[in-house]
Amino acid sequence: MPVDSCKDAIELLLGYLDGELGPDVVSKLEQHFGGCAPCEEFLKAYRATPQLCKKALAAKMPQAMADSLTGFLRGALKKS
Ligand SMILES: [Zn+2]
Repeated sequence: MPVDSCKDAIELLLGYLDGELGPDVVSKLEQHFGGCAPCEEFLKAYRATPQLCKKALAAKMPQAMADSLTGFLRGALKKS
């Protein structure tokens, strides 16, 4: 699956954070994140969160949080 746009990246992001994606998709996604400011900013913030929170977030992200995260990213992308 190609990851050519932020829309693709966002759709894959939650699976990425959950560690559900295959290595080939992960490397394509990381390539996109490396060259895309809004996605990179999000990942930086995510990686800056404490390990414990990260684990809890990745393990049990409620659907409402997943939805608002996706909404937030879509809004951030619209502005750029
Ligand atoms: Zn992006």
